[in-house]
Amino acid sequence: MAFYKEPCIRCGTLIDPDSRSCPKCGSRIPFGDRCFTCQREISRDDKVCSGCGRQLHVVCPVCKEVTFIQDRCEKCNADLMIICPNKRCGAFQFFDAEKCTACGKKIKKK
Ligand SMILES: [Zn+2]
Ligand SMILES: [Zn+2]
Ligand SMILES: [Zn+2]
Ligand SMILES: [Zn+2]
Repeated sequence: MAFYKEPCIRCGTLIDPDSRSCPKCGSRIPFGDRCFTCQREISRDDKVCSGCGRQLHVVCPVCKEVTFIQDRCEKCNADLMIICPNKRCGAFQFFDAEKCTACGKKIKKK
């Protein structure tokens, strides 16, 4: 298996391509904008993901403004990520995820 590293877009640290976060700067999207559902690379100009068709702009649950899907709200900087409730998983998931993309378990809504 080829072993290579990719640079974090925020701080440039070389990290494993399957890392869920950058150990240096803590960015949870170290390789740029990716769909939280299917992991396909996405562009801020797109309305929906070309891979799974999910909306790429969501209403922030904190400020109610529309924001691009990323780890923090563009408008109020609220944290939009949740941690998978499955103890053995613990993967970061987007707040509107219905099931975890890492372990496949359903995520209960409060
Ligand atoms: Zn980084
Ligand atoms: Zn997608
Ligand atoms: Zn917000
Ligand atoms: Zn999970």
